[in-house]
Amino acid sequence: MPHTTYHVVWEIDVAANGPVDAAVKALQIQKDWSAIARTFDVINEQGKMRRVDLHAEALSLCDECASRDGAVKCADGAMLCKTCFNKGLHA
Ligand SMILES: [Zn+2]
Repeated sequence: MPHTTYHVVWEIDVAANGPVDAAVKALQIQKDWSAIARTFDVINEQGKMRRVDLHAEALSLCDECASRDGAVKCADGAMLCKTCFNKGLHA
């Protein structure tokens, strides 16, 4: 079970003819998010922000420290580097 609340921010710049048009265009892009909208700013309960890019190369990042040092997939789905994995933070 998730035990931490994260504030996830998705931002995009769109060229539009007004606020409603901009929102509609953002919605269209969000619906197609698997192709385009894959970068999120994720802020944890301590206010620490991490930009998460879900494009393929980012999927091996450590969920705790964002290191790319050989991520290990935990039983709870978290991807951790060996250092964080050895701290026993996840199942
Ligand atoms: Zn780590």
